[in-house]
Amino acid sequence: MKNNQNIGDIPSGNWHFENINDNFIQAEKYSEILWESTTKYQTAKIIEGLYFGRSLILDGKTQSTTSDEFIYHESLVHPSLVQHQNPENIFIAGGGEGATAREVLKYKSIKNITMVDIDKEVVLACKKLLKNHHKNSFDNPKVNLTFGDARNYLKFTKESYDVVIIDVPDPLEAGPAYKLFTKEFYSLVKSKLKNSGILVTQAGPTDPNSAKQCFTKVFNTINSVFPLTFPYHSHVPAFGTTWGFVMGSNSEAPSTTEEIDLKLKQLSLKDLSMYDGIAHDGLFNLPKYLRASLYNETHVINDNDPLFVD
Ligand code: SAM
Repeated sequence: MKNNQNIGDIPSGNWHFENINDNFIQAEKYSEILWESTTKYQTAKIIEGLYFGRSLILDGKTQSTTSDEFIYHESLVHPSLVQHQNPENIFIAGGGEGATAREVLKYKSIKNITMVDIDKEVVLACKKLLKNHHKNSFDNPKVNLTFGDARNYLKFTKESYDVVIIDVPDPLEAGPAYKLFTKEFYSLVKSKLKNSGILVTQAGPTDPNSAKQCFTKVFNTINSVFPLTFPYHSHVPAFGTTWGFVMGSNSEAPSTTEEIDLKLKQLSLKDLSMYDGIAHDGLFNLPKYLRASLYNETHVINDNDPLFVD
């Protein structure tokens, strides 16, 4: 059997090939590249995908797509915000599409969202082309958008936050985000949280072939900083795998199905397509292989030995 014998079976047209990792590629047909740039920080494009819809791709990695961004953004935001008794002041690191801010704005208690994204060019392209993602969240007066490195911003701010949401790309060696995956950074975040504060971050893939590359290490690193640490995951089809998140908290443990549903009712949260009590249970009830990998992880990511993924 020859290598590439099926290459002729790929239908004609334009294909976005995404390296899920060095040995696994996912491909989506697209009709158009709407915007493309090599910015000061990363390569960036927005495509009109014919399966997942409009997608932002940074350094070759899909960040979110019209058809399933709600799974990623609701998973990232709601477990922490529902958990917090009174979220008012929120910090978002990254979050360029504006969809993380969109989800946070669903809480009536919110007084201020500080969003710090390093790449103005990417954010302006998202604002123009990803309207279904941000739903005008950038124009909400509660959202204060600043351009810069989120770590540097947190280092100098005098503010403290109820919830810090880290919505940056994976720690690629040539990328702008790897310094936001270290013990020193998580300690800085902790120092900027109020007593009942919560940190949450996206933490990479959780399938059996990839979980130990990033997810378990991020979990163990956050666990070395916070008294309570909660790993969870969700299936995001455009990412080609299940995707991990980690919450670090000073005091608040995740609630039960019934408690979540009651809180959602009390908060009268509108327009949730993925998150409720049952989905919350699903997020936090991790499979056996993943619990074992988390339990056995010993690596703590440090500034002087940062983590880089494929
Ligand atoms: N959903 C995403 C994913 O798959 O991980 C993250 C999406 S969001 C578009 C990531 C944003 O983080 C980008 O807009 C990027 O410019 C920003 N970013 C990367 N490094 C950053 C840093 N050091 N400080 C602030 N923003 C950063």
